[in-house]
Amino acid sequence: MAGKTFFSVGPSQLFPTVGQHLQTALAENIGSISHRGKQFESIYKETVENLRVLLEIPDGHRIFFFSSANEIWERLLQNCVEHHCFHLVNGSFSAKFHEFAVTLRKNAYKHEVEPGKGFSLNEISVPEEAEAIAAIVNETSSGVQMPLSDVKELAQRYPQKLFFADVVTSLPAVSPDYNFIDCAYFSVQKGFGMPSGLGVAILSPRCVERAKELNSKGQVTGTYHNFSQLEKFAAQNQTPETPNVLFIYLLGKVAGDMLKYGIENIRIETAQKAKMIYQAIEKSSELDFFVKEPAHRSITTIVAEVKGGSTSLIERLKSKGLILASGYGAFKEKQIRIANFPSQSSEMTEQLLKELPS
Ligand SMILES: *Cc1c(COP(=O)(O)O)cnc(C)c1O
Repeated sequence: MAGKTFFSVGPSQLFPTVGQHLQTALAENIGSISHRGKQFESIYKETVENLRVLLEIPDGHRIFFFSSANEIWERLLQNCVEHHCFHLVNGSFSAKFHEFAVTLRKNAYKHEVEPGKGFSLNEISVPEEAEAIAAIVNETSSGVQMPLSDVKELAQRYPQKLFFADVVTSLPAVSPDYNFIDCAYFSVQKGFGMPSGLGVAILSPRCVERAKELNSKGQVTGTYHNFSQLEKFAAQNQTPETPNVLFIYLLGKVAGDMLKYGIENIRIETAQKAKMIYQAIEKSSELDFFVKEPAHRSITTIVAEVKGGSTSLIERLKSKGLILASGYGAFKEKQIRIANFPSQSSEMTEQLLKELPS
């Protein structure tokens, strides 16, 4: 295979059909059509339907488009939290959501553990007044996952609170039970193998109701991207603003291709590739697991510590066309992070493993 293979954790390797869909989009003038016309409405509808089938999203849940997961953090706080929220924090992404809440003047509680650690449910106690719980299913900065059984158990423990789940680097490889999640959200440059620039939120009916209730109480829930505006336009297969039409189109096509390939196959392969990568880390005398607890080791973003530092290894692999991510923040020069998304085929992963230090 010519050129580079990206094992970076987002943006990452593009899904193999993205190029051909981009060409079709140009040929069909997708970049010039009106976002108030029938053609756009049918694109929008196809994308939402494909996501609903691919991810097994319940009928009552809404699917809305944003610019990024960062935007969704802000919108959730504006639309669904009046005063108090509670955040699980174990790395840079979950910490940032908590910081957004503080910046927006919410009373933001947190339960924090060190990067590389997961959460023990029996240590988590959510304050009575918290209106929402923000959980992170896969902390991309440290390669820690929260088992889906823990996600569900925590949500079920506090049924009266809204439950937000960051599944940015989890989907489509995992299948959370959306019946217990009021907002599951992702951006497309991770597991969906697209260029960056589109965020997707999957909202429960009560999450949208909560936004309307706060709005009617006088809370500022935002302008064009508040949940009632989004719902109103979604009912006509449209968006309040002129959206990223090209990416809504591409996402629908990629989700359709994943459906044809078989989501079960994708999930089986993800598990197999993760096992191969972790075995390579275990065997290597130069590499070590960052996440010590096996149940908390991510299957989609795998982090290894490199003896003597990761910089030269990353450079050496780069010269062979294999692009890895460095560690995040303070771990930049100590770790490597390896994406295990649907776009990294088994062959690509085998290629990488041949080059990792033994
Ligand atoms: C990448 C990432 C985000 C942020 O996504 P943007 O598209 O940059 O807003 C949030 N959470 C997790 C877990 C991520 O990996």
